[in-house]
This record gives sequence, structure tokens and C-alpha cells, in this order.
Amino acid sequence: MSTPKLHTSIEYLKGVGPSRAEILQQELGIRTWKDMLYHFPFRYIDKTLVGSITDAVATGEPTQFKAIVTKMSVSKGRYKKRLNATLFDGKSTLTAVWFQGVKWVSEKLEVNKEYLFYGTVKKTKSGSSFAHPEFELYNPNALNDKRMEPVYSSTDLLTRMHLESKFKRRVIKQILSKIDSNDVVDPLGKYYTDYFKLIPHVKAVYYMHFPQSEEQLEQARARMIFEDLFFLQLGIVFNQTTRKQKLKGAIFESVGEKFMKYFDEKIPFELTGAQKRVMKEIRRDLGSGIQMNRLLQGDVGSGKTMVGLLTMLLAVDNGFQACMMAPTEILAHQHYISITEEMKGMGVNVGFLSGSIKGKKRKEILQLLKDGVIHILLGTHALIEDWVVFKNLGIAIIDEQHRFGVAQRAALWNKTSEVAPHILVMTATPIPRTLALTAYGDLDVSTIDELPPGRKPITTRHIYDTKRSDLNTFIETEIEKGRQIYIVYPLIEENDKLDLSNLEMGYERLLQRFPRPKFQISIVHGKLKASDKESEMQRFVRGETQIMLATTVIEVGVNVPNASVMVIENAERFGLSQLHQLRGRVGRGADKSFCILVSKYNLTANGKKRLKTMVRTQDGFEIAEVDLELRGPGNIEGTQQSGVVAMRVANILRDSEMLNYTRDHTVKILSEDPQLQLPKNAPLLHYLKTHNMISKNWGRIS
Ligand code: ADP
Ligand code: MG
Repeated sequence: MSTPKLHTSIEYLKGVGPSRAEILQQELGIRTWKDMLYHFPFRYIDKTLVGSITDAVATGEPTQFKAIVTKMSVSKGRYKKRLNATLFDGKSTLTAVWFQGVKWVSEKLEVNKEYLFYGTVKKTKSGSSFAHPEFELYNPNALNDKRMEPVYSSTDLLTRMHLESKFKRRVIKQILSKIDSNDVVDPLGKYYTDYFKLIPHVKAVYYMHFPQSEEQLEQARARMIFEDLFFLQLGIVFNQTTRKQKLKGAIFESVGEKFMKYFDEKIPFELTGAQKRVMKEIRRDLGSGIQMNRLLQGDVGSGKTMVGLLTMLLAVDNGFQACMMAPTEILAHQHYISITEEMKGMGVNVGFLSGSIKGKKRKEILQLLKDGVIHILLGTHALIEDWVVFKNLGIAIIDEQHRFGVAQRAALWNKTSEVAPHILVMTATPIPRTLALTAYGDLDVSTIDELPPGRKPITTRHIYDTKRSDLNTFIETEIEKGRQIYIVYPLIEENDKLDLSNLEMGYERLLQRFPRPKFQISIVHGKLKASDKESEMQRFVRGETQIMLATTVIEVGVNVPNASVMVIENAERFGLSQLHQLRGRVGRGADKSFCILVSKYNLTANGKKRLKTMVRTQDGFEIAEVDLELRGPGNIEGTQQSGVVAMRVANILRDSEMLNYTRDHTVKILSEDPQLQLPKNAPLLHYLKTHNMISKNWGRIS
């Protein structure tokens, strides 16, 4: 949205030059006038306020004061020169030091002249230090228009090179004086600027840098936040609308015999209201003739697998095959066992495929799949390998989305030649609905926000690791009641040697406290062979061991109803959603269940909040909100691809109301004019095009 002028390099501006331009590019990615112009301040300071040296020393905050330079000297340190300047403000003295740009500063600064200094006095071992302050000659007349001086983010290098706020202000002022509204085209166009009662774009850019009042800044921010969110939504909704027009999907017309039979004869319970609602949403998609691309989010144990199974039966009833992928072999196999059992006498053939199925066995399964004999295939991501060919795959279900990359999902599209299979992604890491719509881009979102009735709450406690003997006593009483216990250690990849030795130490300690043969312990971690992992798991599943000691491999989906205690070691090292997932492993049987979070004594504020939240609530959505608050939206699954992190001023959490507002309006605009062909929409289309926001490949997901 800009003329060639805005694409000139900042190099040629006064006071910049090639080497500074390069540093700015390297440190902040700023190369052109445009980059510089959209590098907005993160706060503003009132520079009409002139404090004193005493203030600066007492507060330790960035302070401006007026002082005379009484003495200057350059001393040669062991490696480097440094410049000391003694400052006197009429009451106190303070020494300012420069280690970098000594020559530059000593040329600018003169003894006996009065300057405004701006900087932070830091406490050090030997007293205090006032290093690299900004300074300018004191001019009482210049003070008045400095009520809101912009402050820009900086880096160490930029600070050392004197390329911080003061420098940027000068550069940006130059750019602004050289351009007008013909150079910066309003991305929304006049029609929408008026319609949404916003100030013009260029004006907003100007006010972002140099507001004359709070009100101007407010108007500028409102405009920028609106733009960020509006275009984010416009891109998402545009692509979604187009995809729906272009991508045909198999039609599952009838609710057939198998679905009904399973429903009537096999399910021993009523679907929850949320499950019914979600089934309706899915059925609507599947009957529409358009390819479904849906995310199903719901807490651990909310009954997503049930919804997945019913959906697969719809496919089978309509003459299609279905597959469901799980992120681990253990979980995939557990699905296979339970679904095979459920399908007994139903005339539905269930198959299993994973990396460990090899040779003749694999060949046989592949043949049955190709011939259409296998109706439902369960497995790991082996399912998406090229050599897996279906006769007519109608739907692919991906369980526990967060372990599957976008590319892996996309690979499913090559599985059928005619129409793309429907896709249902299930995740137990729910995120707030508004954010989900944005973060998952062109996935539609269904939410199960209700647990099946009769779930007993899990009692969650946080203890310090100094209380280990109490914990062991508790574990022993639970084992005596016939219960089983999980004990989980964190596994963080960068540090997995240390983690493993933690686990091994924990194992030794447990063996001493819970000796064989009275007690039996399974141990499972990522370094074990798949077959060993499986057999250790199975010993626990069969109840032969009372304790399962594991790294986070058990995180996803294992179902052992008799396990009623989840102990999480080093709990402070887990993220909230992971803690919540782990806790979801217990509370599945009839018994009272417990989750014990064990941590060290010294916790960060963030760590404390996570553990507190876990103790306070069991609601996955509430936990997701706190998680989002603690980690910021940029770290949420999916958001990286969607541009949430690229926003200039908006913050998707803080501005969620505006997010909804812009979403509603983009939906309206695009339902009236799906391809943005109306004159008033021309600027919008232009924006999407010039920002590469139009998805070219309809064969790819999110
Ligand atoms: P999720 O996959 O969402 O974690 P599951 O589908 O594994 O949850 O369901 C957890 C347990 O709840 C399973 O044992 C399942 O049979 C049971 N379940 C599912 N739906 C219902 C329901 N409507 N009423 C009672 N139990 C249910
Ligand atoms: Mg599940």
C-alpha cells in the first residue's frame, strides 16, 4: 500500500548512512522508510518533567534531569577507552560514563555547558553507575512540545551505538516530513475509514509517533488496532469462504444401519448435550457437499473419541472408509483394541497400522485397505505415508491435534484422487473460542464444553519436595486400597540427560521405599525400545504393577481406570496445559482420585500461578485462559501460521472485543461480496494481495 518512495532504504537519510542502516536491519529488520514508519513506540515519556540527580539515584527509573558538565576525562582501561563526565545539577554530582562511541560523545559534550540528560542510574557493587545516557543541549523553549516523547524498543547493540529513541525520532521525523497521503495509501480506503469512524491512516501513523495529546494517541491506537484485527480476520474469512466454494467433499447423506445399531445397542449412556450439538454440526458439514475441515476441542474425558467413532460410522454407512490417527503407538493401539471390541457383531472391519507393523503383516493390511475390506483404520502417523492407499477414504480423524504438524495433516489430501477427505481434528488443549477461530485459520471450530455426568472431581494438592515422606505414606495407603499410581517426571528435550537421571534417581528412591516383591513398579521413558515400553505399559494396565514411573509419554490418552493418583514431580517445570492433560489420566474410574503436584520450594511468580491455578480449578477452558495470559498468544498452537504474532499494535487477548467486532464485519462484507469485487472493497482486495494473504493452495489445511 505504498509508493516506491516508501521502499527506499533509510540509508540515504540524514544521519543514517550505510553502517547504521545495516545495524538497524540486522537488529530490528528495519530497511526501508516504511519499516521505520511502522516501527511504533512502545511507550511515551513526559519530557517536560525535569527531575534531579537525587531523583535519578533514588528511583533507579529512567529520569530526565538538567546538569552542567563540570569535568570530562578519557581514561584508558585495560582493553578500552572510557569517557567520564562529571555532572552537577546545582545540588548533587553524578558521573556519567561511556564505553562506546567515546570519540563521538567527547566531540558533542562540552565542559561548562548545560544539558538535559536522560537515563537510568543503576546500583552496582561499588555504588552506582550512570552509563550511556541520552543527552542534548538544554533549550528551555524546546521543552513544551515534549509532553509525549516516543520511546522505541532497543537492543544492546543499538543502545551502544547510540541508535536508540533519540536517533529514531530524528529519522522518523525526516521521513514524515518527506511524505504525504499520496505516499501512504489508506489500506481501508475512504469508504471504510468513514464507515468505521476512524481517523485517516497517515494521520494515525503520525500520531503514533508524535501525539500532541492523549486523545490523539487514543485515536491513532484505535485505528491501528482496528486495522491489525480487521485484516487478520479478513484474510481468514476470505480464504475460508473461497475454500468452501471450491472444495467439494463427499456427501454422507444417510444416517445408516451401522450408526443406528451402534447408537441403539452399544452405547450404554446418553450423549451429553454438547456431544449432540457437535454431532449436529458435523452432520451438517458432511451433508453439505463441501469438504469439512473442522476442529473439535473439548477437555480430557469429555467424550471426543465417541464423537469421532460415530462420525466414522457415518462414513462407513455411506460406503466410505475412515481412519483415525493418534500421536503415539500406545494410544493408537488402545483405540484399536477398544474400537474393535465395540464393533463386534457390527459388520465393521477394523484395522491397525503403525511403524512397527512390518513385512507380511503390513502387506496384508495394505491390500485389505486398497480393496476396501478394512472400513476403519486406526494407527499412528504411519497412516499418512505415501504407501498407504485407501480404496475410498471419506474422512480422516486426527486425535490430539497438538502433536500433529500442519504438513502431516496436509499429506492426507493425497490419499484420494477425486474429492478430498473430510477432516476432523480433535484436541484436548482447548483455547478460548474467539481465539480458536483466529488461531486455527480456516478450520471451523466445534466445542464440547460439558463433561459426561457422574465424574468425580479430582482433588489436587501442591506440596514441596521436602514433604516426600508424607507423600510416600499417602501412596502406600492408596496402594493398600488396591489403587494404582502414576508418577511422572518432566522431559524437556534440551536437557534430556539430566531429566533421565532425575527419573532414574526417583526410581532408585522408590525401589527402596516400595521394595519388591510386595510392590511392583513399571518404568517407561522415551529412551526405551517401543516393545519394552509397550510391555511395561501393559503390566500396569493389567494391574501387575502398582506404580508407573514415567516421563511424559503417558501424557496422551492412556486409559487405566483403576489408576487414581497422579503424582507430578518437578511440577513447576510443566506448562499449564500439560499439567492439565496429565491430571486427566486419573479420575476415570469410580474411585476418589488425586493429583499431587510436587515442586521445589523456590518458585517463580509464573510457576506459582500455574500450580495455584491447577489446585483451584479443573476446568480446561479456564486453565487455557490463564495459560494464554501467562504465555501470550504467540505461543499458542496454531497461532504462528495465522499472523496473530505479526500484529503491530493489537493484542488478541486484550483486544478480544474488537476481534469479535472485526470478525462480524468481515463476515458481513464477504457474504455480500465474496471475491471483493465491489469498488468500495478494492482497497481490501489490494491489501490481501500485496500482503500475500490469499491462500493459493486449496489442498492445504490451516
Ligand atoms: P476424550 O477423548 O474427550 O478424552 P473419551 O471419548 O475418551 O474422552 O471419553 C472418556 C470416557 O467417557 C470414555 O470412557 C467414554 O466411554 C465415556 N463417555 C463418553 N461420552 C459419554 C457420555 N455421554 N456419558 C457417559 N460416558 C461417556
Ligand atoms: Mg481422547
